[in-house]
Amino acid sequence: MRILVTNDDGIHAPGLAVAEAIARRFSDDVWVVAPADEQSGAGHSLTLTRPLRLRRHDDRRFSVSGTPTDSVMMGLLEVLGSPPDLILSGVNRGANLGEDVTYSGTVSAAMEGALAGVRSIAMSQVYAREGEGDAVRFTCAEAWGERAIRPLLDMPFAPGMLVNVNFPALPADRVKGIRVVGQGMRDYGRASLVKHKDPRGFPYYWLSFHGVVETGGHDTDLEAVADGYVAVTPLHLDLTYRDALTSLAARY
Ligand code: MN
Repeated sequence: MRILVTNDDGIHAPGLAVAEAIARRFSDDVWVVAPADEQSGAGHSLTLTRPLRLRRHDDRRFSVSGTPTDSVMMGLLEVLGSPPDLILSGVNRGANLGEDVTYSGTVSAAMEGALAGVRSIAMSQVYAREGEGDAVRFTCAEAWGERAIRPLLDMPFAPGMLVNVNFPALPADRVKGIRVVGQGMRDYGRASLVKHKDPRGFPYYWLSFHGVVETGGHDTDLEAVADGYVAVTPLHLDLTYRDALTSLAARY
């Protein structure tokens, strides 16, 4: 089995090494094509206004001067001679729960894989605390990764399907198990702006994500992780809200 590993935290991120270790539980044919620099929040963006550079680190390890989506495209179109059987994206430094998935470069790399018809799985390690930064421990992902991924390897994935896995911020022995749940949605307070002045007196702004309020909806990824489970969520690239099709059509 040939596995392509990528992420959005960049080629040097500790979570990428965790994803590679998980991949090696399943195969020796593991390839890495990942962004050269951190691309968190890049979503499903493509680089169209400047050239991409591909840097070879060793026979099966490459970095791309672009986004996670660029990296998957480069992996499929240039680096790998044939399509991989599996794409693993992550392990992201921080959660990709609820509406995070639309911002997430980690999840979007798996979306790109799904578009290409490759079985694709995103993996994220939830932070214990905000501001934990590089101190985030991946021990839960390390211990639970194989158990979360292996059941997905021989399961049919419908066209356009991908799977989003979030590991809770707990020591591995305190994780209660794995739950298959839907995507949740946080209540409000998603973003705020931090405003400061630069040394020349001009304002600059920084997006901040403190004070997010969430009520754990039942059977959502938010609830599962809060309750101490690994959350496994099937996603689909068809974003149509089918409940609104009839009422919307009646407007025209
Ligand atoms: Mn990230």
